[in-house]
Amino acid sequence: MYDVIVIGAGPAGMTAALYAARTNLKVLLLEQGAPGGQMNNTAIIENYPGFFSIKGPELANKMYAPLVNFGVENRYGVVVEVKNLAKYKVVITEDNEYQTKTVVIATGASHRLLGIRGELDYGGLGVSYCAVCDGPFFRDKVLVVVGGGDSAIEEAVYLTRFASKVMIVHRRESLRAQKIIQERAFANPKISFFWNCIVDEIEGDDHLVTGVRLKDIKTGKYMEINCSGVFIYVGLYPMTAPFINLKIMDDSGWILTDEEMRTKIPGIFAIGDVRKKMLRQITTSVGEGGIAGQQVYLYLQDKKEV
Ligand code: FAD
Ligand code: NAP
Repeated sequence: MYDVIVIGAGPAGMTAALYAARTNLKVLLLEQGAPGGQMNNTAIIENYPGFFSIKGPELANKMYAPLVNFGVENRYGVVVEVKNLAKYKVVITEDNEYQTKTVVIATGASHRLLGIRGELDYGGLGVSYCAVCDGPFFRDKVLVVVGGGDSAIEEAVYLTRFASKVMIVHRRESLRAQKIIQERAFANPKISFFWNCIVDEIEGDDHLVTGVRLKDIKTGKYMEINCSGVFIYVGLYPMTAPFINLKIMDDSGWILTDEEMRTKIPGIFAIGDVRKKMLRQITTSVGEGGIAGQQVYLYLQDKKEV
């Protein structure tokens, strides 16, 4: 029987595990991939205090390293369900079951698909959702980036390290991204913009992407653009499918909590990108992890279980 099982080892989950372990609780951290979450897919992080600039995977390693020292047990596991029984909770993975007094959900969010023709056909053949992973394959090539948020604009700037030209396609005429990120993109000679446009179809030669068909949504006109790759950054959806039976989500699937990270089920907490909230960042995830780690301890103390 664990005191707490933390599901997801992104910045939120790693911090919750650290805080809980430092109160001497028995902590299991379950992760379905490499520890670090979205930080592993981020080239450079410039807004995490203490660092002018740090590579995402490097920050992930720095957050992970102290966990073992403080006694956090780390295991691989794809969580498929959580059961809330009268006396304890059960976390079910694809190949195991664990009993625990409390659960912290920190499963984050994943990239949304555009849902257009060619997107699935050319996945890994020119269509990508991760500039850090795939950018180096496009040296001296022409790329299209779709979206107008922080991810699209920041990753477009990163892609100019490799590509000869990056064209950003955005459905409106102003960007959602932070101003400092926008300014870098506007100042970059390799970047150009297609405003008020959507990608209607990703085209290829049956092996690789060869271009996109754009639609100008103001004029209704179509344009053909040649490119070798299409990077899609059109937002996120919450990774909450394993928790549907708990009924702790809003209509769009984001988990609802109070300021102490408590869901409506006693002993089940949620933190980080998976929560319904305004600002999805590493700093906010880490802060919520700290709150949840402490709240788990207070909850168990209140029930005289520690
Ligand atoms: P995540 O980092 O998403 O981690 C969730 C973890 O849960 C993952 O490791 C996942 O594998 C695991 N998981 C999910 N489901 C399961 C399951 N069923 N079983 C087991 N494990 C599971 N923020 C910044 O502050 N600065 C930046 O520069 C920045 N750049 C970004 C660039 C990109 C391209 C993106 C997409 C995001 C960026 N962000 C940035 C946002 C930041 O990465 C997130 O806000 C942060 O990572 C959220 O942390 P998290 O721990 O909540 O979730
Ligand atoms: P986001 O902020 O939700 O932006 C998604 C973008 O895609 C928006 O510009 C949106 O257009 C566009 N879009 C959505 N659906 C579309 C569709 N069907 N067709 C065309 N365009 C579509 O998502 P994100 O940029 O991935 O960011 C996710 C979170 O991570 C945010 O909280 C962000 O702040 C954070 N993040 C932070 C950093 C950083 O701090 N440096 C970096 C990356 C990400 P509209 O603008 O018209 O809605």
